[in-house]
Amino acid sequence: MSLDGAYDPANIFAKILRGEAPCVRVFEDEHVFAFMDVFPQSKGHTLVIPKHSTARNFLEEEPQVVGPLMLGVQRVARAVRAALKPDGVMISQFNGAASGQTVYHLHFHIIPRWDGVPLGRHAGGGMADKEELKALAAEIAAKIA
Ligand code: 5GP
Repeated sequence: MSLDGAYDPANIFAKILRGEAPCVRVFEDEHVFAFMDVFPQSKGHTLVIPKHSTARNFLEEEPQVVGPLMLGVQRVARAVRAALKPDGVMISQFNGAASGQTVYHLHFHIIPRWDGVPLGRHAGGGMADKEELKALAAEIAAKIA
C-alpha cells in the first residue's frame, strides 16, 4: 500500500464503525470514535478515528473533518492521562506503508508511556486480553471531560 489509492470500505476500522467487527469502545461523539488497540504498544493504547470519512490518511482528510477530529484526539488523550497517570503520552499517526501504516482508515494512536517501560512493537505485538481492555476502556471513559 502506498500513499495513493482508493479507500477500501472493507477495511477493519470501517467494519468496526459499522458494527460489523467487534471492538472495545472507549468514547464516541458526532465526529469521532475511540476504541482500544487490540495489539497495544503499551497499557491503554487507544485509537481515535473520524466517523464520517473515507480518508485513508491524514494528508487526504477534508479540512472540515480535521478540526473536530483533533479536538477528539485531545479529549481522549486527556482522559487517558487522567485515568492511567502515565509519565508521558505519545500521539502518533502514519501515512503510507513506508511510514508504518497498516490500516487504511485515518486514525491517531494515543499511547501512554511510563519511564523505563519500552514501547511495544507496532501492530505486531500480542493480542490483548479483552477483559483487561474493557477495564481500561471503562477507566478512560470515566475521565472523558
Ligand atoms: P497503523 O499501523 O495503521 O498506524 O495502525 C493500525 C493499528 O490498528 C495497529 O496499532 C494495530 O494494532 C491496530 N489493529 C489492527 N487490527 C485491529 C483490530 O481488529 N481491532 C483493533 N482494535 N485494533 C486493530
